[in-house]
Amino acid sequence: MKITEHIENAKSKTLFSFELLPPIKGQSIQGIYNAIDPLMEFKPPFIDVTSSREDHVYKEHANGLLEKVSYRKRPGTVAVCAAIMNKYGVDAVPHLICGGFTKEETEYALIDLQFLGIENVLVLRGDARRTESAFVPTPGGHCYANELLDQVTNMNRGKYLHEEHESVKADFCIGVAGYPEKHFESPNLKTDFKYLKQKVDGGADFIVTQMFYDNSKYIEFVKNCRDNGINVPIIPGLKPITSSKQLINLPKIFHIDIPEDLSDAVHACKSEAEVKEVGIQFMINQCKELIKAGAPVLHFYTMGNPGPTKRIAEAIF
Ligand code: FAD
Repeated sequence: MKITEHIENAKSKTLFSFELLPPIKGQSIQGIYNAIDPLMEFKPPFIDVTSSREDHVYKEHANGLLEKVSYRKRPGTVAVCAAIMNKYGVDAVPHLICGGFTKEETEYALIDLQFLGIENVLVLRGDARRTESAFVPTPGGHCYANELLDQVTNMNRGKYLHEEHESVKADFCIGVAGYPEKHFESPNLKTDFKYLKQKVDGGADFIVTQMFYDNSKYIEFVKNCRDNGINVPIIPGLKPITSSKQLINLPKIFHIDIPEDLSDAVHACKSEAEVKEVGIQFMINQCKELIKAGAPVLHFYTMGNPGPTKRIAEAIF
């Protein structure tokens, strides 16, 4: 079922969902099931599976020469989605990214998704390679999420890259990313907003936000969207703080602010176990407020660690 239908069917009741990473190459799918099993009691209508581009690594040969090779650490997004749908009977939402894929490869992935009965996708530009300071588009691929979105909406109209197939129109429900605190490359919120609106006007059906810890930023973001004619569901992305080093890492990686009351509370902790507890309690309060504010879904970035999300869901759902 489409995410928009799940939200409509819930009739204003806030739903629970979460995101996972595919296993590191060489690890089994059991790790995914172990991360999902504890959260199934909260009846997620959908589970997201991230995607990542290749990195460049150097492989040393016997003669001492180094060869630059392309290496994808976590392949298998489409297959993990199929496994989730098959095992749990819930909708899986693959993330599709521009980086690392040509338009043709994206088309083949979309055809695979159609055959598997996967109805939702989240389209993103993708992060930069770890070895590069900025995003470099793949030759023959897309530069921005709105271009990838166009490819999916074209397929929904039966327009494939090199031909038209009126009889085999796809029917994907398409999500895009939104940033209540602005995407880090954008010169200002207004410009970022312009591109978000371009994505929604281009056919996006829902928005999932970057994580945030100050609900007023989400509420303001939703208001700005509504004032500017963006009327699709806006799903807040959430990640509980689980360690003191995240006070530095999360702003550094995701370009978000940690509110003073949360950072003060973490600084006052005497152990990492206490920090985890503070993070969970903070997120429980944040979730309660978001439900009151009418969030359609609470979407957790679990990073494969279901424990803290389970504690929060127990208090909320
Ligand atoms: P875009 O919408 O393309 O925007 C990128 C930047 O360019 C913004 O600053 C925007 O304002 C600007 N911009 C947009 N369109 C144009 C245009 N036409 N011309 C000029 N400027 C433009 N990354 C992964 O690698 N894998 C994942 O699975 C993944 N999942 C994510 C899930 C969520 C919910 C979120 C919020 C992020 C996720 N990311 C993921 C990270 C994401 O890929 C990065 O934040 C990336 O830097 C931007 O992606 P985007 O889709 O928002 O890009």
